[in-house]
Amino acid sequence: MNQTATVSEQFDAVIVGAGFSGLYMLHRLRQLGLSVKVFDAAGDVGGTWYWNRYPGARCDIPTTDYAYSFDPELEKEWTWSEKYATQPEILDYLRFVADRHRLRSDIEFSTTVTSARWDEQAKRWRIATDRGKEVWCRYYIMASGCLSIPKSADIEGAGRFTGQVYFTSQWPHEGADFTGQRVAIIGTGSSGIQCIPLIARQASQLTVFQRTPNFSIPARNGPAPADRLMQLSEDRAAYRHAARWSRGGIPVEPTDVLGVTASEAVRRERFEAAWEQGELFAILGVFADQGVNPASNDIVAEMIRERIRSAVEDAATAEALCPKDHYFGTKRPCLDTGYFETYNLPHVRLVDLRTQPITSISEQGIDTADESFGFDAIVYATGFDAMTGALAAVDVAGRGGLSLAEKWAPGPSTYLGLMTAGFPNLFMITGPGSPSVLSNMTVSIEQHVDWVAGCVKDMREAGFETIEPTALAESAWGEHVRDCAAITLHPTASSWYMGANVPGKPRVFLPYIGGVNAYRQACDDVVSQGYLGFRRTGRGRDQCRDGVIRSMQPDVAMVLEVMAGLGLPPMETLSAADARALMAATTATRPPAPEVGEVTDGVMPGPEEDLPYRLYRPAAPAGPHPIVVYFHGGGWVLGDLDSDDPLCRDLCARTGAVVVSVNYRHAPEARFPAAAQDAFKAVQWVDANAVSLGGIPGQLAVAGWSAGGNIAAVACQMARDAGGPRIAGQLLICPVVDSEMTRPSYAENGDGYILTTALMRWFWDHYADPADRGDPRAAPLRGSPDDLPPACIVTAECDPLRDEGVAYARALEAAGATVRHIRARGHTHTSVTMVGVIISGAPVRAQIAQALADFFPAPIAAPVTGALSHSSIG
Ligand SMILES: Cc1cc2nc3c(=O)[nH]c(=O)nc-3n(C[C@H](O)[C@H](O)[C@H](O)COP(=O)(O)OP(=O)(O)OC[C@H]3O[C@@H](n4cnc5c(N)ncnc54)[C@H](O)[C@@H]3O)c2cc1C
Repeated sequence: MNQTATVSEQFDAVIVGAGFSGLYMLHRLRQLGLSVKVFDAAGDVGGTWYWNRYPGARCDIPTTDYAYSFDPELEKEWTWSEKYATQPEILDYLRFVADRHRLRSDIEFSTTVTSARWDEQAKRWRIATDRGKEVWCRYYIMASGCLSIPKSADIEGAGRFTGQVYFTSQWPHEGADFTGQRVAIIGTGSSGIQCIPLIARQASQLTVFQRTPNFSIPARNGPAPADRLMQLSEDRAAYRHAARWSRGGIPVEPTDVLGVTASEAVRRERFEAAWEQGELFAILGVFADQGVNPASNDIVAEMIRERIRSAVEDAATAEALCPKDHYFGTKRPCLDTGYFETYNLPHVRLVDLRTQPITSISEQGIDTADESFGFDAIVYATGFDAMTGALAAVDVAGRGGLSLAEKWAPGPSTYLGLMTAGFPNLFMITGPGSPSVLSNMTVSIEQHVDWVAGCVKDMREAGFETIEPTALAESAWGEHVRDCAAITLHPTASSWYMGANVPGKPRVFLPYIGGVNAYRQACDDVVSQGYLGFRRTGRGRDQCRDGVIRSMQPDVAMVLEVMAGLGLPPMETLSAADARALMAATTATRPPAPEVGEVTDGVMPGPEEDLPYRLYRPAAPAGPHPIVVYFHGGGWVLGDLDSDDPLCRDLCARTGAVVVSVNYRHAPEARFPAAAQDAFKAVQWVDANAVSLGGIPGQLAVAGWSAGGNIAAVACQMARDAGGPRIAGQLLICPVVDSEMTRPSYAENGDGYILTTALMRWFWDHYADPADRGDPRAAPLRGSPDDLPPACIVTAECDPLRDEGVAYARALEAAGATVRHIRARGHTHTSVTMVGVIISGAPVRAQIAQALADFFPAPIAAPVTGALSHSSIG
């Protein structure tokens, strides 16, 4: 230990914060026999509920759920008076918990932790407070709150105002009386929306300054929901278990109704039910797709706007109160009691800062470009530096003096939102990268505290002194958090979830949106895999289990889960006819594919029989266009013009090229080399008929997915060997290029991801005799890679065929071809092509389309819009 330090006291653990998190953490660590010190800047326990004493402050998760569940006796002893309890009642509850478990004796109030430094020699943290105290600890736990650092009033002249100033998040304990006063409220987030109706009852004049209108629905407060109380009384443990394994931390039956396909009657009925229920998770779950599909989201958003318009009498005020710059749910929606109706009172006025911005605050009031307002009091309801504010407010230095603020300057980086590399034994409760503010926080808090307690217990039992995430585990978790957010509409909003409310804060989506249940599973899996992604050291031991806990794209994992649940027979156990019927049945359930200018079916001559084709012509620009001859997937056995129709439409719409999808002969009726011969013949025919097909002569590319990629690659080799036609480029999406099935990607991904080793074997058996499987027309990787057209090769991380695709890309590159290799991270063999189903495939297909467009001399890529990708609104 550093000898020069003034050692006052040593603890096993120091906890910052005595709110829901800190209190339970203290209890759990005490149970483990640890010595613990808790510091809180507040004068008592409560955290959020100590500070936020503004009129109308309440929880907006029902009290049946917004409470601890770790102590069944406590649950029996405490009865909530309302569905949504007031701040004083929640504070009383937390005081009751603190007394019941005699927690106060280890808490030092009115004390702010100012710095924390890791001492490498001592393997301990040195903690300093604003009271000059310094303590040492093995474990440093930041239970400092996600919404505990108020945003400063960054308005010109804010300090000049001579009247009363209030911040909702630091409300005076003696309260405030606005009777007869002219009051300004700046901010219309949750706190503003809660306090405005109550302040309006006292003030003689109330002026609300609104920067962004927010969605809010009536809370319908009253007694706790009877159905929930009944479930709790029947089987409390089962109810709590269901909450822990739910998406948001409340047991809610998820719907599978899609907004875009539901009838108008169903839409209305579902919306009305959620509106009447007055609960956040109900209105956020009207449709299964409202969080990811703009069209579905618009349906809910517009219905809420209808309600706002009918509640507010003045049409211009109503319109100003209607949120239109963000999708519903991408900013935290609010629950209110008479909020919108308050604007019908004659002494209440709304000032829309988008049309009338504040220029400065004066001694007497607030000046906008058009008006000067005089006030007796200004109330700031301007929100928080969310999720990272309290963590960054402490001067934290980890290994080698690494500063947390510096490490996180580009945005926070954590493993599971629990720890961050370079800061051993520093735990965060509901840190960035965990579900936290997107969930019922009491459930998330208990889960984090339990995980940390379990981790500390395991370390002590195994004799480890330090734990820290690996760089790989942390960066992969960050990628997973971003992947989860990217498939939703959330990143399109300028929200505090994105850090957008704090000037200069990096724009990253801070919480984990994959769900409380998925998150809990990931945390549990980390432990069951021997603390995967962590390095633990102590007593001469150094154990590092480096690795990645979640690498698959979240929507791909979801679809796999749904498919597994359908209990379909494995394809390889079926006859070819039955397998085709099963595939056709699946195809029929797909969502609508993107629109293109024109779709026509025709036939072209094949080597033995006519080959059906489908031609996709782009809506714009006007032709002629480059042409792409496309071959569908299906292991040479399955598939047809319908099976890959959405992908062909997508390629056509994104590139502005004509796509000619060709249906070749299938095995086992027509075995090798029938498919390859058909492919080459089709390329020759399209080349010869380019003009009549609306194409530009000489601008011809080939493309294919899976077995279609196989015959596309073969067609290129055959064209080379035959001296034509000239092919501008080959797009091979997850192609079969070899018959060898022993590459590592087969071992890694040969089971469970739709295309399995067994299925691939079935395909080969149907297609080609073992003696033919080394023929380059079956396995193009075995052919000469020389003089082949430029290639775009797409490989998927979780595809058995990945490594042969990689090998083909390398072989072509080594032979001098121009190769663009797109590695689809977290995707399977099928997922990139699942247009309209797998949202995370869209950015990959955007890259594919660009590569395809780049094969041709003139720029042809059409802008990618609307249905093809999420676009921001505003
Ligand atoms: C008005 C409001 C309403 C909310 N309603 C809900 C709801 O209905 N449902 C829900 O799930 N969530 C709600 N939340 C989120 C709420 O913050 C959490 O539910 C929960 O109370 C967080 O508990 P916590 O202990 O993690 O953090 P907090 O309650 O924020 O406690 C953190 C404590 O740490 C202390 N602290 C921070 N930094 C330091 C330091 N450096 N030194 C010393 N002390 C420090 C703070 O003083 C604070 O007391 C609400 C938040 C607000 C602001």
